[in-house]
Amino acid sequence: MQSAFQERLEQIQRRVREACVRVDRDPGDVSILAVAKMFGPERVREAAESGLTVIGESRIQEAMQKIPLCPGHLKWHMIGHLQRNKVREAVQLFCMIHSVDSWRLLQAINSACEAIGSVMPVCIEVNVSGESSKFGLAPDDVPGVLEQSSSLTNVDIVGLMTIPPFTKDTEDVRPFFRHLRELRDEWQNRCDICLRELSMGMSNDFEVAVEEGATWIRLGSVLFGERQRQAEDGRG
Ligand SMILES: *Cc1c(COP(=O)(O)O)cnc(C)c1O
Repeated sequence: MQSAFQERLEQIQRRVREACVRVDRDPGDVSILAVAKMFGPERVREAAESGLTVIGESRIQEAMQKIPLCPGHLKWHMIGHLQRNKVREAVQLFCMIHSVDSWRLLQAINSACEAIGSVMPVCIEVNVSGESSKFGLAPDDVPGVLEQSSSLTNVDIVGLMTIPPFTKDTEDVRPFFRHLRELRDEWQNRCDICLRELSMGMSNDFEVAVEEGATWIRLGSVLFGERQRQAEDGRG
């Protein structure tokens, strides 16, 4: 018998396929990142049993406790704001960081990877909406970072990430996703860099994000169920 998790996953995969059909994209170009923050190893195992292999976390502390208790074949991506004093742990735990929101953080990741002889794929988080409550580089600051990054040997900037403002109507977020894609196209040309990944779209807006070019959709509640309110993200 199918688990409830599997049923939810299949529904999501169907919705992703349908969004791809609407805009003539290959569903194989859209990956699901299962965001397990606030959910324990049991729930992660359930995700793994349903065939998901990449898990997202937004806090180092939580990831450090959880990852050793989860199936060893899983890959882990960091999606939350990362403090520079946690970078050394982060580069050991994660195989990709979606949330690089400053030049100094990028440099710190580069140094930490240099020390252990690894290279970290990262996305630059862009604050497309300009909301002061959001992390991410202002669009105007990104080309400079992309150009400077050519001197860093142990980070590989593979794409861009954004978190749009929360809205009730998911259509309202479309311009933010579209804008990120357009910025990506512009910067790829201008900075001679390949930015193939667009990490955008969460539980309530992933179909719109897929229609606008997302390659990573970061799904928490639509997969795992609602998180406890008081520990909700946004507090670091
Ligand atoms: C929590 C979180 C998600 C997943 O949120 P849902 O709405 O539960 O899908 C995605 N991205 C980031 C950066 C998050 O912190």
